[in-house]
Amino acid sequence: MKLNLHSHLEGRLRPSTAAALAAEAGVVPPEAGWEQALQLDGPSNLTVYLAKVAATYPFFRSPQHIARIACEAVEDAAADGTDYLELRFGPATHVHMGFDMDSVMAAVCDGIAEGSRRTGIPSGVVIAALRHHDEETNIDVARAATRYAGRGVVGFDLAGDEGLFNDLAQYEKPFAIARAAGLGLTCHAAEAAPGSAAREAVERFGVSRIGHGTHLADDTDALRWVRDHGVVVECCPTSNWYTGAITRRDEHPARYFREQNLQIVLGDDNPVQTKSLLSNERRVLADELGFKEHDLDELDYVSVHAAFVEDGTRQLFVAQLNHSRN
Ligand SMILES: [Zn+2]
Repeated sequence: MKLNLHSHLEGRLRPSTAAALAAEAGVVPPEAGWEQALQLDGPSNLTVYLAKVAATYPFFRSPQHIARIACEAVEDAAADGTDYLELRFGPATHVHMGFDMDSVMAAVCDGIAEGSRRTGIPSGVVIAALRHHDEETNIDVARAATRYAGRGVVGFDLAGDEGLFNDLAQYEKPFAIARAAGLGLTCHAAEAAPGSAAREAVERFGVSRIGHGTHLADDTDALRWVRDHGVVVECCPTSNWYTGAITRRDEHPARYFREQNLQIVLGDDNPVQTKSLLSNERRVLADELGFKEHDLDELDYVSVHAAFVEDGTRQLFVAQLNHSRN
């Protein structure tokens, strides 16, 4: 069972689709090609990393384009051996003149549904509020997410530059709206801010999962608190290395988290930018971070129980998990 519980739509734009869409729009290709243009050169910081992700934004210029990119994201995940893709997406960035938030939401939901139909793997959308957007915009995003709950949207998240925007009070209302609608809740935290930011996100927003949580490794009290409250941490080793949250990939705290009995799951965050899909992140756990088969089994077990899926799908996952172990 390979569940990808932290991956962004913008980070799964195929370079070949970027090339096709650019050609359609009459955009001259970059000298070194689109693949090179979308990839990061190597480890840097979160601001540089996010700027590279933002380089994909012009490709999300119509509902048709968004649906295509979302569908291909599911297809690429399935081709990588993934059994379930939870895809994150900040719709407010992609609302342009001529189409509104609901058109964007419908497009991403239609796209993943088509991807799931083609591949047979389930998928769900996690809608992200963004740290640099104002409260009103993030409230609009949360309301739109609730309108698509049960129609593709399964969760709500806060993403963006934690280094620049770390005052969490302004995001409480959007989370309250998403929570009232019964959406799964997660939050990027303790990636560029200290470990205590993860605890604060749980206390303020009621999230059951934390994106990255890398700096929990530096704060024993926060780590224990998060662990003892049953919160699950979504680990993305290569991404954390590229954002500078850790200095070496083989020093990623996933191993330490495991030793501390913190519940962890895996994601590939932005695989086009980091050139590392989920299968490679799993290889990193095994080859660089000393995860044994029973550690990966435990990660799969936690993933099945932490995924933002309906009971029926979860039961199917549990059956698959049991089958793969027998
Ligand atoms: Zn992320």
